[in-house]
Amino acid sequence: MRVPFLAGNWKMFKTVREALNLVEGLINDTKGIKDREIVVCPPFTALHAVAKAIDGTNIRLGAQNMYFKENGAFTGEVSPEMIKEIGCRYVILGHSERRNIFGETDELINQKLKAAISWGLNPILCVGESLQQRENGETQAWVGSQVKADLEGLTPSEVEKLVIAYEPIWAIGTGKTDTPQGANDTISMVRNLIAENSSYEVAQKVRILYGGSVKPQNIDNFMAEKDIDGALVGGASLEVESFARIVKFESVVAAS
Ligand code: PGA
Repeated sequence: MRVPFLAGNWKMFKTVREALNLVEGLINDTKGIKDREIVVCPPFTALHAVAKAIDGTNIRLGAQNMYFKENGAFTGEVSPEMIKEIGCRYVILGHSERRNIFGETDELINQKLKAAISWGLNPILCVGESLQQRENGETQAWVGSQVKADLEGLTPSEVEKLVIAYEPIWAIGTGKTDTPQGANDTISMVRNLIAENSSYEVAQKVRILYGGSVKPQNIDNFMAEKDIDGALVGGASLEVESFARIVKFESVVAAS
C-alpha cells in the first residue's frame, strides 16, 4: 500500500513570519494524522524557521529547487547538502515554472535527480503537457518522453526514491483541472513506463501525484482514483483551512 502524499508548493510566497503562521496553523489542524504524508515546501528563506517549527510533528519539509553541484562558484544557487542539512527530506525538481521560466532542460533535471538521490533526498519530479500538446492529443506521448528523459540512467533502487507529480501546465494556477479519470489514465501510463524500465515492484512503490488547481472541492474525487496517490498543491496550500481540508481528503476508495 502506498501512503497518500499531500504536498504544498508555496512557490515565491510567504515571508518567514507568514510561513510560521501558516505552518503553526497546519500543525494544529493536522495533529494525529498518521495514515498520510504531509509535506510543505516553503521558499528557501523560510526553510530553517519552518524546519524548527515542525520538528517532532507529522509534517515534513521539502525545498522547491536545488543545483546539482556539490559546491562552487554558482552564484545564487543552493546545493543538495545545504537543503539536506537544513532538514529537507524532499526537493521539487523539474516544476514547469522552472522549465518554462528558467529554461531547465530534461538533461539538467536528470543531473539534479541523480545529485538529490545521492545526498539522500527524495525528489518530487514534476512532468506535464502544455495546452497545445493537450489539444493535439499528445499528452501521454509527451509526459512519457519527459519521464524517460528525466529518469535516464537511474537504477531501479534510485527510481524507488522518487515521488512523481503529473501536472498539466494548463491546469496550474488556472482553476481548470484534468478530470480525475483523465489524470488517472496518464498516471497509470507513467506507472507502466516505470514497470517496463525499472521493475513492477518499483512501479508499485513510487507515489504518483496529480497537481494543477487541486482544491478542497475536488481532492476527494482525485483521491478516489486507483493510481492517484496524492496531490501537489500550489494556491490552495497557502491557507491553513484549505490545505488542511486537502490533507483530510475523504478516502472514498477505502470506504467503499
Ligand atoms: P496550483 O499549483 O495548485 O496553484 O495549480 C500547482 C503547482 O504548481 O504545483
